[in-house]
Amino acid sequence: FASASTPITATLFPGDGIGPEIAESVKQVFREAEVPIVWEEHYVGDQIDPRTQSFLTWESLDSVRRNKVGLKGPMATPIGKGHRSLNLTLRKELNLYANVRPCYSLKGYKTRYDNVDLITIRENTEGEYSGLEHQVVRGVVESLKIITRQASLRVAEYAFHYAKAHGRQRCCREVAEKYPDIVYEEVVIDNCCMMLVKNPALFDVLVMPNLYGDIISDLCAGLIGGLGLTPSCNIGEGGIALAEAVHGSAPDIAGKNLANPTALLLSAVTMLRHLELHDKADRIQDAILNTIAEGKYRTADLGGTSSTTEFTKAICDHL
Ligand code: ATP
Ligand code: MG
Repeated sequence: FASASTPITATLFPGDGIGPEIAESVKQVFREAEVPIVWEEHYVGDQIDPRTQSFLTWESLDSVRRNKVGLKGPMATPIGKGHRSLNLTLRKELNLYANVRPCYSLKGYKTRYDNVDLITIRENTEGEYSGLEHQVVRGVVESLKIITRQASLRVAEYAFHYAKAHGRQRCCREVAEKYPDIVYEEVVIDNCCMMLVKNPALFDVLVMPNLYGDIISDLCAGLIGGLGLTPSCNIGEGGIALAEAVHGSAPDIAGKNLANPTALLLSAVTMLRHLELHDKADRIQDAILNTIAEGKYRTADLGGTSSTTEFTKAICDHL
């Protein structure tokens, strides 16, 4: 892995909507922190590439395959027939089977809870997102929800590996001592929503199917201050890691210098941790969290009046 003298090449998809603005923040903060990363930037094409059957170019997918690490801004799929969603194409083509979405309370930013510290691990390839939909008869549409043993085992393996590697195995161990055959707890999704809102501290690592993971991680984001704050990282077969914010392209605030870059910045930090650049990751994460805690510069989603660029500059000053 990395040493100070050998820069690493990583793929960057600035993406759509607020994507280019928050990607600019990441580039600026990385420059300021002297992170040894060279970005290989790829934009989504304006026509379908026959080699990928999508607006994603073959070169951009190849770049991720080659570099094995990257950062992705939100991608909005143009509405219309005959092509796959960009996010789905990326997940399928790169076999990004697990999406890790950490969510923790931020010091100095008051919400209903101050003890949230959860990781949602979302199965990323199947469920309602299998893309198998058709009209049975006029007015009746059938969508197949596919859950396979292979993909379920793969994401479960990853979740247990993650829980162990990050020292989050205590509950599993306690339960395992009492019930040697059971090393985890199962909660049904409706009850899970109720418990999360009543007492989020009951949970540690949550692993779940694709659609539930999408919904629950938005719920978790709401517990700590919203989508502007929550990062994620997609883990793929063959050691690929493609970090991205949980949020979408936020067209309502795009191009207005209003977006909160925290979610993409913290995603970039997870990318640095994947590369074992922990010093840089710690420095950048501290600068972000301290800027928010200080409260002088905050974007509008956190009740402040700072622009994306002012907030980014404040983070650079903290560095
Ligand atoms: P998409 O279709 O691309 O998912 P969307 O309309 O669902 O777009 P999201 O990006 O998912 O929008 O976000 C929902 C709302 O949360 C947005 O309307 C936006 O106001 C807010 N939001 C999301 N991300 C951010 C951010 N980084 N900073 C500030 N506000 C945000
Ligand atoms: Mg959305």
